[in-house]
Amino acid sequence: MTATTNQPKPYIVAERVCKSFGAHQVLKDVSTVFHTGEVTVIIGASGSGKSTLLRAINRLEPHDSGRITIDGVDVCDDLATLQRQRCEVGMVFQQFNLFGHMSVLDNVTLAPRRIRRTPRTQANDEAMQLLRRVGMQDHAHKYPWQLSGGQQQRVAIARALAMQPKVMLFDEPTSALDPEMVKEVLDVMRGLARGGMTMIVVTHEMGFAREVADRVMFFDQGRIAHDAPPQEFFSNPANDRIRAFLGQVS
Ligand code: ADP
Ligand code: MG
Repeated sequence: MTATTNQPKPYIVAERVCKSFGAHQVLKDVSTVFHTGEVTVIIGASGSGKSTLLRAINRLEPHDSGRITIDGVDVCDDLATLQRQRCEVGMVFQQFNLFGHMSVLDNVTLAPRRIRRTPRTQANDEAMQLLRRVGMQDHAHKYPWQLSGGQQQRVAIARALAMQPKVMLFDEPTSALDPEMVKEVLDVMRGLARGGMTMIVVTHEMGFAREVADRVMFFDQGRIAHDAPPQEFFSNPANDRIRAFLGQVS
């Protein structure tokens, strides 16, 4: 292999992104690059802007100024662009947000059928493969209320994967779970990372960050205050605020 083929490819680029809610500036000149195949863990105190950044990437919350591009294309309100980018970007939330009136299988096949126009039999086959990947193949015909939180979150991951995204955003995917269910969800995420998925994960699970992340980013009051490989990040916290934060969550 030549050196150039090993170059990580910039996939999502944020340049001086700002966002305010009223007088409260929540993102302050956030600039960073997320590369293809990279797993980034974002940590930081509640209210520091972590979710807002993920939501800006997915255009669930438009930013005020600065620029975000996905694979070189501006995140913007043009409908065709928005729809294409939403297919490329999978998102998993703290509250699993499954459709309560639909079976697990229908939750997973809905978007491919509606948006990609995948025929039902093909969508079902692909969904079953994904459900197998998250260990939920035996629950395909159940409804969300019949599942534990951990099972619902694994279905939510399968549902996001069904659109064949190029990047997965996770916003505190285990924070609403009982402790005994955290591992089964983190195991699925570990598998995804091992498979080369580009991931941006907001989490307080420091074990996951140490083990799986390529880089750990610390958000502080709307800014990326530190960004380093996990070994460096955890062995030698760059400042007192990080040390204090790690003291609270570890
Ligand atoms: P984090 O995910 O790091 O906890 P958020 O990005 O959710 O932080 O929020 C950052 C700040 O922005 C918080 O003070 C929050 O209250 C505020 N905020 C987030 N969303 C909204 C909104 N839709 N309207 C007003 N304020 C908001
Ligand atoms: Mg948040």
